Amino acid sequence: MRQKFVAGNWKMNLDLDDGKDLLIEIINSSIDSTAQIIVIPPYIHLSKFNQLLTSSNIALGAQNCHQQDSGAFTGEISVPMLKSVGVEYVVLGHSERRNYYFEDSISLSFKVQQVLDHGLRPIYCCGETLDQRQEGLHFDEIRTQLKEGLFKLNEMELLNCVIAYEPVWAIGTGVTASPEQAQEVHSFIRKTIASVYGDMVADNISILYGGSVKPDNAKELFNCPDIDGGLIGGAALNADSFAAIANSF
Ligand code: PEP
Repeated sequence: MRQKFVAGNWKMNLDLDDGKDLLIEIINSSIDSTAQIIVIPPYIHLSKFNQLLTSSNIALGAQNCHQQDSGAFTGEISVPMLKSVGVEYVVLGHSERRNYYFEDSISLSFKVQQVLDHGLRPIYCCGETLDQRQEGLHFDEIRTQLKEGLFKLNEMELLNCVIAYEPVWAIGTGVTASPEQAQEVHSFIRKTIASVYGDMVADNISILYGGSVKPDNAKELFNCPDIDGGLIGGAALNADSFAAIANSF
């Protein structure tokens, strides 16, 4: 059985007091889900959140990392630093980082390796733009992002990755991919992995969907055979909606 996840990416939202209030609401919302729940706040909240999560099953994630252990990289945060404050998952290649900070899949492959080398798990995002989908290039784009970002890994390393399919046109727009559209791409991702790593790896890797997941569409998406959960943006900033999505498993 593949591991299920519901991960809330808070992006650059909420100061420490408001963030603590939301986290406590989430902890108290008695989520009853078969999925691993992950909260991914801004870096600056991680240490405090680690203390607040000690007696909870909720895991902590970071939104990015640097590919070196330490050094003269002003403004950056390393994986050992993240590990020291209890982080277990690191989102890499979110479309906002690819778009605003020009991160590409080849440079992301070094971050993926760094996260794995320190025993943490990357959540590697891939997805196409609206133009690419309209031109019928979405499968090519996703294949390239997977190949360049992940396919240097060995089998065990790849199995420690979580993949998030996030069509750029669905992120923060209120437009969700239909379950059929999402399932089609998830199945394509699994087949692409199978063609390189074989069926065992493809069948066991978790692939999340992200893009305007809400309480009223989560169940239908999560029921698709190749969708193993969600990476949630806007709806993760409200404890009731995040809990409702988590409880869709
Ligand atoms: C995201 O940022 O990864 C995301 C999926 O955002 P939203 O749920 O708001 O579309």
